[in-house]
Amino acid sequence: MLEFEMTRERVPCLYELSFKKGNPPVLVLRIHNDFLEANKGCSPTQTMLGYMREEHNLGEFLPFGGEYFGFDEALKKVKTEDQFTEFNIEIPVYRKETAEKCNYCKGEGWDKDLQLSCSWCDGTKHKILYDWKPFIAISASLELLTSLTEIFNKKTSEKKYQLMSIRTTCGKKSGRFPIGGSYGIDFCNWLATFPEGHQFSRVVQTMAEVHAHIYSQEIDFYDFEAYVGSNDWLVIGCPGDACGIHRSDEFWEPGEGKVFSCHNLDNAIQQIELLIGLAVMSDEARKEI
Ligand SMILES: [Zn+2]
Repeated sequence: MLEFEMTRERVPCLYELSFKKGNPPVLVLRIHNDFLEANKGCSPTQTMLGYMREEHNLGEFLPFGGEYFGFDEALKKVKTEDQFTEFNIEIPVYRKETAEKCNYCKGEGWDKDLQLSCSWCDGTKHKILYDWKPFIAISASLELLTSLTEIFNKKTSEKKYQLMSIRTTCGKKSGRFPIGGSYGIDFCNWLATFPEGHQFSRVVQTMAEVHAHIYSQEIDFYDFEAYVGSNDWLVIGCPGDACGIHRSDEFWEPGEGKVFSCHNLDNAIQQIELLIGLAVMSDEARKEI
């Protein structure tokens, strides 16, 4: 398993996360061609696909080898460079304000009973639609992808090392969307160069901007966090019930990688926002590693 292997040794880079600012913002996955070649046309068992499709009402699944991967074209192939193929995941909008009048306040923007701004349309006077489906399609696609990367046991010839590994789960009956994984030796050594309490402001700002894109409304940066905790642990948090990525073990020695864990990832949007946090961390680390 990649996750545990990385705690003990440097693993040649199999894939990396990255982030591209823009409208829409993009979560980028650069995947080594050896992995893509070995998994061409391969999709996890029909039973698993059928289960995920049915459970989440998803559309078609496309395996590696074409222009897209995953459910509902969640990952789009962009280019191949230096043995890596880049896939873009465009971040969708969850909360959309329509041109239609709000049914509840009849386009007044005001709740007469409660004497408050209308909570159905957030006082915008327009009907608001909420769309989970594209977020679920991304999360389900990433579950399949990260289950394949975890069991891939061939070493690539790549000179640079894997900075972090992720494995994600898409909902199912538990209603949870956890992210687990590990930070490689080089990433941990880089993290240890920062003092305890150091804030990664670019990570916080990016997650807040992506959140504003997803919800079509601004929220406070203070609802996000990305900092070095005790014993050189990375803590990344986003809005929710103490929702975030943190340590899974108290102990870490220089020269080792470490496994990380998460807390209360209740929906696919939180999962994607935290993955973007990790992607920005990966970009920051890659400048120096
Ligand atoms: Zn209204």
